[in-house]
Amino acid sequence: MDREAVPVAEEDGRRRIARTDVVLADPRLAGAAGRLGRGVVKAAVVAAQRRARSGEIPPDAVADAAVASLPPTASGLRPVINATGVLLHTNLGRAPLSDAARGAVAVASGATDVELDLATGRRAKRGRSVLDALLERVPQAEAAHVVNNGAAALVLAATALAAGREIVISRGEMVEIGDGFRIPELLAATGAVLREVGTTNRTSPDDYAAAVGERTGFILKVHPSNFRVAGFTRAADVSELTGLGVPVVADIGSGLLAPEPLLPDEPDAASVLKAGADLVTASGDKLLGGPQCGLLLGREDVVRRLARHPIARALRVGKMTLAALEATVRGPRTPTEEALRAGAAALRERAERLAARLREEGIDAAAVDSGAAVGGGGAPGVVLPSAAVALPEPFAARLRRGVPAVMGRVEDGRCLLDLRAVPPGEDAAVAAAVREAAAP
Ligand SMILES: *Cc1c(COP(=O)(O)O)cnc(C)c1O
Repeated sequence: MDREAVPVAEEDGRRRIARTDVVLADPRLAGAAGRLGRGVVKAAVVAAQRRARSGEIPPDAVADAAVASLPPTASGLRPVINATGVLLHTNLGRAPLSDAARGAVAVASGATDVELDLATGRRAKRGRSVLDALLERVPQAEAAHVVNNGAAALVLAATALAAGREIVISRGEMVEIGDGFRIPELLAATGAVLREVGTTNRTSPDDYAAAVGERTGFILKVHPSNFRVAGFTRAADVSELTGLGVPVVADIGSGLLAPEPLLPDEPDAASVLKAGADLVTASGDKLLGGPQCGLLLGREDVVRRLARHPIARALRVGKMTLAALEATVRGPRTPTEEALRAGAAALRERAERLAARLREEGIDAAAVDSGAAVGGGGAPGVVLPSAAVALPEPFAARLRRGVPAVMGRVEDGRCLLDLRAVPPGEDAAVAAAVREAAAP
C-alpha cells in the first residue's frame, strides 16, 4: 500500500503504517538483509511496526526505527577494543589474531585443500603444512599434533598414555585454571588415576622416583601459570625426571615456542624438550598469539600414538583453526607480541595525544601511568609498565555498550583505557568511541 493513498482524514493512525514488504524494500534494509539474513531484518521491521501501532513512534518512522535496531553483525559476537590492560583476556577471547591469520581464515573458510594434494588429486594428511611450520619453529620436537585447546591436549595425552594407569603429579601442581576448570579433575575424567607426590610447596625428584612403578602411565609437570608460590619451595625440573623409565609430559600452558626474554619465568616448548620432556602440551591462544587450539609437540612415537588414538578424532580442529595457526607460526609478529613489546614511553605518548585531543573537545580526559598484565593464565605477578587515558567512571559502562565496544577497567573511581593491548592503529577508533559516549 502506498502511504499517499491513505486518506488524510483517516483517524486510525495504524492504517498509515507501511506494509512489511514495502518497508523491507528500503535500500538500507534490503542491504542489511544481504548481510544479516532476511529473517533478522524482517523481525526488526515487525518490531518497529508494533511500536508504531502502539503509538510509541510515528508511523513514518518505522523504517528508521528498524534500521536503528538492527544488530551490528550476523552473529551475537561483537567487536571489542581491549583497553583493560590485560593482554590475554579470557572473557574477550584471549589472543586477537594477526592480520595474516585473519586473512588465512578468510581463505580457508571456503572450500580448501585441507586434506587433498592438489598436485596428485589424492587425499593428503590433514594440517600437514601447519605441522611442518611448528616443527621448523621447534626443531627439538620430532612430531607435532594439534587439538581443540590446551585441555584437549591433556585429555588426549592422559587417555592415550595413562587410561587405567597412573599419572604421577606434584601436589604443588594440582592447578585450577579458571572458571572452575581443574586439571586434576580433567585428568581423572579420562580414567587415569592421579598419583600425587610431594607437598604444596615442596616436591623433590626422589618423591617422583618413589611413586613411579609398573602402573605409571607418565609423569606430568604442570606449569603453575596463574599463581606463584614463594618462600620455602622446591619443584623438580623436567631434567631431573628423565631417568625414571616413564614418559615425562610437560603442560607449559602459555604456548611459547622459544624463550621470551621479557618473561623469563615462562616455560617454552623448545627448552622443555631440550631438558628431556617426551611431550609438551600448550594452548595456541595465549602467548603464542594464535587461535584457540592445543599443541602437542615431542617424540615421534609418542605423538603418533596420540594422533592415532580414536579419541583424537573427537578433539581435532577445523580448517580455519589450522589456517590461523599456520599464519601465526610462520607470519609476522602477532598483536600479542606487539602488545608485550610496546615501549612504556611510546604508550605514554599515545595516551597524552589521545587525552589532549579529547580535552580539546571538552571531555575530562587525562593521561596516566598504568600497570598491564599478561593474563589468560600466563606470567602471574608480572606487571608491564603501561599508560592509560583516565575518564570519569560513568564512561566505562557507556563505552562497553558502544559499537565497537571499548572495554576499559575501573580503578579508584575512574575509567582507565589502558593502551598496551590496543593496537596503535585503533587509537582513532578509541577517540571516536569516547566522543560518542560523551554525547548527551
Ligand atoms: C591455560 C592452561 C590450560 C588450559 O588450556 P586451554 O587452552 O584453556 O584449554 C592448561 N594448563 C595450563 C598450565 C594452562 O595455563
